[in-house]
Amino acid sequence: MTPPAGGGVTQATIVKKAAPKSDYKPADVSPQRRVQRSYSVRLWAIRHSRLLEWFYARFADVFLLLHPLWKGLGYGRVEAPVKFVEKRVKGFMFDCRMCGQCILSSTGMSCPMNCPKQLRNGPCGGVRANGNCEVEPDMPCVWVKAWEGSRNMVKGDAILAVQKPVDQSLRETSAWLRVTARAAAEREQAKVAA
Ligand code: SF4
Repeated sequence: MTPPAGGGVTQATIVKKAAPKSDYKPADVSPQRRVQRSYSVRLWAIRHSRLLEWFYARFADVFLLLHPLWKGLGYGRVEAPVKFVEKRVKGFMFDCRMCGQCILSSTGMSCPMNCPKQLRNGPCGGVRANGNCEVEPDMPCVWVKAWEGSRNMVKGDAILAVQKPVDQSLRETSAWLRVTARAAAEREQAKVAA
């Protein structure tokens, strides 16, 4: 790769130096902060993708069983507590970014939103020879890991499906509830059609 112009000074460094100085450091958005993490739980989840695939299917069934409860209470009302739990559980397990349109089951349990370019349909051309990310050199490429995880899964070929662009309006909403409500609607439609 050609070294950046200006004696190795990157555009990111110039922007950072020009930024106003303050003590405020936003959490979870700094690449420096992210590379300090070991990614160990995320990588564990990918290594155990088959187990998690099985678990997630059972979990989705339970959520669907509870559809009358969610509906009775109101999906809008239960959103906040469910999202609170979902964010923490998936944040711990997968470094989830709460895109609200989860595709973990199609990506070997590797969250594509951890890709600095947020690519949802495979890696960019910059994967390093050691399988790490070109933007965050200490981080394994989420798509290299997605492929590895998908090879362990029963429905691993779902990784070949083309994903729609991210709908940003769904950020910070519960994917669990969305999937449940959609499955319940499909089930009711099938009943009516039968
Ligand atoms: S795909 Fe979206 S909802 Fe699923 S783990 Fe990643 S950020 Fe979270």
